[in-house]
Amino acid sequence: MKAGRRIGIMGGTFDPIHNGHLVAASEVADRFALDEVVFVPTGVPWQKSDVTVSPAEDRYLMTVIATASNPRFQVSRVDVDREGPTYTVDTLRDLRRAYGADAELFFITGADALEKILSWKDAAQMFTLARFVGVTRPGFELTDDHLPADTVSLVEVPAMAISSTACRDRVAAGKPVWYLVPDGVVQYIAKRGLYTPRD
Ligand code: ATP
Ligand code: MG
Repeated sequence: MKAGRRIGIMGGTFDPIHNGHLVAASEVADRFALDEVVFVPTGVPWQKSDVTVSPAEDRYLMTVIATASNPRFQVSRVDVDREGPTYTVDTLRDLRRAYGADAELFFITGADALEKILSWKDAAQMFTLARFVGVTRPGFELTDDHLPADTVSLVEVPAMAISSTACRDRVAAGKPVWYLVPDGVVQYIAKRGLYTPRD
């Protein structure tokens, strides 16, 4: 019998997607011999309900543009299309259904998010649906304190001190984001006037 495919899952707000996300996905794909990495832009992010987030369709399209040239990178609409706030446990259930029972799922997450993972909805069930891969992120300590060691692995990725927040702030201040985000994303941001204060 053919073994199940190895699928990485990179969830995020992607407002905008940047090269830190892409490097992390690429490095984990190499380390874990993944067949595919699926980027999953969030619908309404529950951790960010107090801040304004760009429309899901813009974040989805930027993710498509950023990943289009990599044959192993895919984008899923499961979170964008689901009503209500995005919970990782729902993402994993939907992708488990889409990829079949014999697929191996690897949820990729940065050190900042990993720190909070045990507080996520249905954390215990999440760990039965996927393995978790924590990646380094400049400014955040990568520790495995209190994490279930059999389901969580930690991976060092080439340090990219980039955040979406910094990209948004740069655009708002009229500074360039070339080489922090893929070229097509620079152009999409300008075309749609994202992150530029309107008065
Ligand atoms: P924001 O500043 O708006 O929070 P962000 O840069 O943190 O944006 P998210 O969409 O929140 O981007 O992150 C999605 C996932 O990517 C998270 O697991 C996060 O930890 C991880 N991540 C983001 N930036 C990096 C980076 N530079 N290196 C490694 N992982 C990253
Ligand atoms: Mg973040």
